[in-house]
Amino acid sequence: MKSFWVDLLVKATLPLGTRWVRKQEAAILREGRPLREWERLWARNVGVRRPEEVRILPVPRVPTPGQTFTVILNRVFGLLSEGPTGMAVNYGIYLEASQATNPSLLVHELTHVAQFERLGGVEAFLREYLTQCVRDGYWDSDFEQEAREAAAPFSRPPGG
Ligand SMILES: [Zn+2]
Repeated sequence: MKSFWVDLLVKATLPLGTRWVRKQEAAILREGRPLREWERLWARNVGVRRPEEVRILPVPRVPTPGQTFTVILNRVFGLLSEGPTGMAVNYGIYLEASQATNPSLLVHELTHVAQFERLGGVEAFLREYLTQCVRDGYWDSDFEQEAREAAAPFSRPPGG
């Protein structure tokens, strides 16, 4: 996609996306649990600077942004097509309850937390993340690749 359209799309979705992420984060920080000791080590290993700030909230289904936003994401990026099993929103992490003890999913999401920190907050992260997803596709975005690579050592072989 031409960078003009990438910029335009990101600009159009950023305010709603930022507001949504902040709202989800507030809910998770209120209701979630802190990281256990070993989970803090995992967090540090993937670059999280303040693991003590992180909260995890298991939910039956990970929420997705408002309809408009989701429709745009689905149409344009092919994102969230199956519904996510985990989601990092700054220092908040949603995990689908059935996946709540899956270490590779948690490490994947902790890597996104580190990216939020590195970029300097919600809006800066989202601007970069959305740009990557629109430009390169969700799967090939740098941030998703980094998270997949960090989580790879924690994934169990299927059925094992
Ligand atoms: Zn991810």
